[in-house]
Amino acid sequence: MKKLIAFDLDGTLAPSKSKFDPRMVALFDKLLEHFEVCVISGGKYELFQRQFLTQITTEPHLLSRLHLMPTSGTRYYRYEKGDWQEKYAENFTSEQKKAIIAALAEGLKESGYAVAKTYGETIEDRDSQITLSILGQEIVAELGEEGVRIKEAWDPDGTKKLKIRDIVAPKIPDFTVRAAGATSIDVTMPGIDKAYGMDKLMEATGYSKSDILFMGDKIVPGGNDYAVYEHGIDCIAVRSWEDTAYALEGIVSAI
Ligand SMILES: [Mg+2]
Repeated sequence: MKKLIAFDLDGTLAPSKSKFDPRMVALFDKLLEHFEVCVISGGKYELFQRQFLTQITTEPHLLSRLHLMPTSGTRYYRYEKGDWQEKYAENFTSEQKKAIIAALAEGLKESGYAVAKTYGETIEDRDSQITLSILGQEIVAELGEEGVRIKEAWDPDGTKKLKIRDIVAPKIPDFTVRAAGATSIDVTMPGIDKAYGMDKLMEATGYSKSDILFMGDKIVPGGNDYAVYEHGIDCIAVRSWEDTAYALEGIVSAI
């Protein structure tokens, strides 16, 4: 029996940068009654708040079972004493940030994939991770479902992201450059991926790989969930949050 179920966020628990569907909220709350739960994402903590923390249960004993790992586990939050407490954060220096931001800006330009109309910032400094969002961070906040549709149509097979990654990576060899969500490229310290996050989680909980089940929508080579699978953790690959909901309904009904 698994003790902890870990999830990717975008494309796995909700559409990209969107809120949980009420069906997912109910399943997530139910899951917390029986398992420890981790959400690990390249996204920042503020997105965790926007996408689900404001909707799920407010019961402290349930929230105490939830492990939040924004920015691929370079930050870790637990619910203690009535609020979310940052347990650690591994941040870049300002020199490192400058070099990364310049490489992302140049790489996007050289790739020819820069778009004329963007929404919000395209390069976002998340302190422990810097993210290039080709269409802009706020496209879903501004356009809603239409924004999700535009994002999903931009690079469905991932080739544009991989090309940008291949241009950026040699410019900053001290860092890891990775195709991330639907329209984003993440830069982190070397060795930071969701497998690193899972190691941090095991360190914090004392659980071993066999105690954990992971669900993600990018468990394919080049995808940002693949490292967890390669790390030897049992995985369920999903195509969308609806697949995840279906799997969770099975898990919850078997309890
Ligand atoms: Mg995803």
